[in-house]
Amino acid sequence: MPISLFWVQCGGCGGDSISFLNAESPNFVEVLKGAGIRLLWHPSLSDATIGERRALVERLRQGEEALDILVVEGSIVRGPSSTGMYDTHEGRPKKDLVAALARRARFVVALGTCASFGGIGVDGPIEASGLQFRRCEPGGLLGADFRAASGLPVVNLAGCPCHPEVLAGTLMALAVDVRLEMDEFNRPLAWYGMTVHQGCTRNEYHEYRIEEEDFGQKGCLFFHKGCHGPLVGGPCNKLLWNRRSSKTRAGVPCFGCTSPEFPTVDPFFFTRNIEGVPTALPNGIIRSHYLVYKTMAAAAAPERLKNRKAEI
Ligand code: SF4
Ligand code: SF4
Repeated sequence: MPISLFWVQCGGCGGDSISFLNAESPNFVEVLKGAGIRLLWHPSLSDATIGERRALVERLRQGEEALDILVVEGSIVRGPSSTGMYDTHEGRPKKDLVAALARRARFVVALGTCASFGGIGVDGPIEASGLQFRRCEPGGLLGADFRAASGLPVVNLAGCPCHPEVLAGTLMALAVDVRLEMDEFNRPLAWYGMTVHQGCTRNEYHEYRIEEEDFGQKGCLFFHKGCHGPLVGGPCNKLLWNRRSSKTRAGVPCFGCTSPEFPTVDPFFFTRNIEGVPTALPNGIIRSHYLVYKTMAAAAAPERLKNRKAEI
């Protein structure tokens, strides 16, 4: 029996769809086929007429047709004044459609940081939230107690965009009812239980505090250039993008896009610090210990690293 999937786009750029289309091996068609998923509707890929889509939505709403997986991309638009009328479906707030379908679905997937936590529009006039969170705060559109028919809360696949292999793996897992272990923000640990720092090819520089102060130097981007790699969960340096690279491998700091607080008011290419030590340190680190450890590590740095002779 095929598994049905309905995809809704709300307040977002569509980047998560584009990211998923970049999945290579398996590609998105192979993912759907392999997982036995029947795509009922995707706003950019489906060729159903408006009438056919309207009838489909009605059958799903009424429970006349089974909905196994609901994928929501983009933030839930609740403005102006909590009406949701800045983002409508058939003249009614799209947030109401999302809530109605979520009540019918066996699994609900929030794809990307906007759908998960609200993203860039949280503090603006669109009054954005995520499906079950508003930044770090549980609640969002569906409420902290929401559970889909499977018993799972909304599965949050954070990222701006979400890595295609994270969605592919999640769909495969849900299709065969594998229980996903999740963190406090309902992100599957299989992909968010590691930091972006893990697997970065600049780790040796980080270890000895060889710092990059100007782009293009070999060095770690944490101390001056705003890298969030040690601060946020995500598989970017293990799964790689386009199967070959990541921001930090290309010399760009990680912006921390998988965090519920993304984007922050801090500039992307700058590290706030006190006496040369970043104000934000990895979870569980004691500041004074870190200062001592990094000072000693810098003193012990091998010449080949100081002279930037190592490969990145
Ligand atoms: S550049 Fe970022 S991810 Fe890479 S080692 Fe430095 S802090 Fe970690
Ligand atoms: S490297 Fe950082 S900013 Fe870039 S996609 Fe990964 S988590 Fe997001």
